[in-house]
Amino acid sequence: MKAQPKASHFVNGAYLEDTAGDVIEVTYPGTGEVIAMLHAATDAVIDTAISSAVAAQKSWAAMAPIERARILTRAVAIIRERAEELAQLETLDTGKPIQETRAADWPSGADALEYFAGLAPTLTGETMPLGGDFAYTLREPLGVCAGIGAWNYPSQIACWKSAPALSTGNAMVFKPSEVTPLGALKLAEIFIEAGMPPGIFNVVQGYGPVGAALSIDPRIAKVSLTGSVPTGSKVNAAAAPSMKHVTMELGGKSPLIVFDDASLEDAIGAAMLGNFYSSGQICSNGTRVFVQRGIYEAFLTRLAERTGAIISGDPLAEETQFGPLISKAQFDKVMGYVQTAKDEGARLICGGSGKGLFVAPTVFADVTDDMTIAREEIFGPVMSVLPFDAEDEALTRANDTQFGLAAGVFTADLTRAHRVVAALQAGTTWINAYNLTPVEMPFGAVKASGFGRENSRHAVEHYTQMKSVYVGMQPVDSPY
Ligand code: NDP
Repeated sequence: MKAQPKASHFVNGAYLEDTAGDVIEVTYPGTGEVIAMLHAATDAVIDTAISSAVAAQKSWAAMAPIERARILTRAVAIIRERAEELAQLETLDTGKPIQETRAADWPSGADALEYFAGLAPTLTGETMPLGGDFAYTLREPLGVCAGIGAWNYPSQIACWKSAPALSTGNAMVFKPSEVTPLGALKLAEIFIEAGMPPGIFNVVQGYGPVGAALSIDPRIAKVSLTGSVPTGSKVNAAAAPSMKHVTMELGGKSPLIVFDDASLEDAIGAAMLGNFYSSGQICSNGTRVFVQRGIYEAFLTRLAERTGAIISGDPLAEETQFGPLISKAQFDKVMGYVQTAKDEGARLICGGSGKGLFVAPTVFADVTDDMTIAREEIFGPVMSVLPFDAEDEALTRANDTQFGLAAGVFTADLTRAHRVVAALQAGTTWINAYNLTPVEMPFGAVKASGFGRENSRHAVEHYTQMKSVYVGMQPVDSPY
C-alpha cells in the first residue's frame, strides 16, 4: 500500500519539495506499513508559503463573496464525487475504520465548506443613523491565517479551518500533524481544481517547530490551533507579541451525566460513541461518565455486553467498527493510563488489554474523582464510570476540572436537563445526545480547553475584523 503524494508541501498552487527538511515517515496504523515519505518544511518553504499567501490574498479578498463561494462550492462537489477515494486515504492516514471515514471525516469537511460558501455572501454590515451624519460597519478579512491541526480528524480540521477563513477573503497556510499529513494535501489539490487562485491555501508539513514558526511570523494575522492544552499555551504565547487573533480548540476531560430516569440504551449508546469512536481519540469525548446510583450496576452490565460486541480489526474491512490508535507513542501512553487505573484501584469492567496499536475498548467502574484517569486526558478508548447520588453533587464533581470543552446529560426530565446544562462549565453541551457537531452549531470551549468558535456563523467573527466608518454630512463643528 502506498499513498505517496507528488511532494511534501503544496505552495502557491503546486506541489513543492525540499529534501533538506527532516524526514517524515508516514505509516498506516492498521499494519505499521510505511505508506509515504515526506520532508518537514525548511525555513525556505515556510517563507515561500507565507509570501505566496500574502501576495494572493489581496485579490482574493477583493473578489465578490459569491465568486469565492462558487469556487468553494465546486470543491464541495469534487469532494463528494471522490468520497470513496478520500475515505480510503483518510483511513490509511489515521487507521480509523472505513465505516467512520466514509461517514464522518470528509463529509463533515464538505459540510463546512458548503455552509460557509453559502454564508459568506450574506454577511453584511450595519448602518447607524446619527441625525444627518451616519456610520456604517464593514467586515474585513484578517489577511493570512495559519491553521495547525491535530492528527485525529486531519481532513475535517483542514476544512473546518479553511472554510470560514477562505470564504471571508483570507488566505491560509495550514500545517497538519506530521503523523497525518496526507488529507490536507488533497484538499489543496481539490481547491486548485475547483478554480481557486494559487497561494490562497498552502500546506506545509512539519513537526512542532514548523507550527511555532507560523505562530510567531508577523505576516500571519491569526492562528487557529487544534491540539493539546500545553501546545495551546505555547502557540498563544508565540502569537502574543504580534497581537495575532487566536482560536484554540484544545483537549478535554468532559463529563457525561446519566440520571436514573434516562433511556438506558440511549445513554449507553452515547457513552460508547463518546469514548470508543475513533478509538477514543476525540477531544470532546465524555470520558467521565457519571451514572446515578439507582441504575449504576444495570448500566455497567449492559455497557459491558455491548462493548464486548464491538468489531475490532482491519480498518479497511467493511465490518470493522474499531481500529488501532494512531501511533506507538499514543499506544504506550494509553496503556500507561490503563495500568495506572488498575494500580489506583479502579474496577476493570472490560477491555484493558493491548496488542499492536490496538487498545481494546476499556471500561473502568468505581472511578473516584481523584484518580489519574478521571483527571487527565487519555485520548484513547478508556471510559471511566463514576457513581453519583444527587444532581448538585454530580454538577460540582463534573465541573471540578481545568477543562471545559464539552459535557452531556441524559435524563427524561426536561427542566432538569436544561438546569443541568446551564450549570455545566463547557463550551459545547448535549441533552440526550453526545458528540454530534453539525456545522450549523458553534463548537468550542471554555476554561483551559480553549476559546474562539468553529462552525456556525459565529466562526466568521474569528476570521474577520470590524471596521467602523463615520460619515460626516455637515460642516465640521470645531471649537478651534
Ligand atoms: P499536539 O498539541 O501535540 O499537536 C497539535 C499540533 O500542533 C500538531 O500539528 C503539532 O505538530 C503542532 N505543534 C506542536 N508543538 C507546537 C508548537 N510549539 N507551536 C506550534 N505548533 C505546535 O496535539 P495532538 O496532535 O497530539 O492532538 C491531540 C490533542 O488535540 C488532544 O489534546 C486533543 O484533545 C486535542 N484536540 C482538540 C480538538 C478540539 O477541537 N478541541 C479536536 C481534536 C484534538 P506535531 O504533531 O508535529 O508535534
